Amino acid sequence: MTETGNESAQVPPGGVSPVYAGVMAKCPRCGKGSLLHTFLNLRDRCSVCGLNYRFVDTGDGPAIFAIFILGVLVLGGALWVEFKLEPPLWVHAVLWGIVTPILAIGLLRFLKSFLVALQYYHRAEEGRLSKD
Ligand SMILES: [Zn+2]
Repeated sequence: MTETGNESAQVPPGGVSPVYAGVMAKCPRCGKGSLLHTFLNLRDRCSVCGLNYRFVDTGDGPAIFAIFILGVLVLGGALWVEFKLEPPLWVHAVLWGIVTPILAIGLLRFLKSFLVALQYYHRAEEGRLSKD
């Protein structure tokens, strides 16, 4: 068997699909334990398999993706509502003032879980100097 140089892209043992882990906000290894203990805060480790989540560092990734996606959704929705329904201005303020935070939290929850699962899937971590 030949080496392909793509071993890091293989699913780690016991890993689940990053999409499943992202949508369900579950542990990227076992797919059963909850990844988050509140809406957006990570647990220290998986309550089922014990995977330590210290390897996780999604940084600003989920927020950046959420900003771009929400911008398209909310602006597109506001334009559609305005041109199709022509409501008074206060309807926009109430509608988008309620819809936007709900979409933002749901999207951030999914994106954070998805990016954690992708980090686990691809074994992404900080570079290290070899001590060998
Ligand atoms: Zn687990």
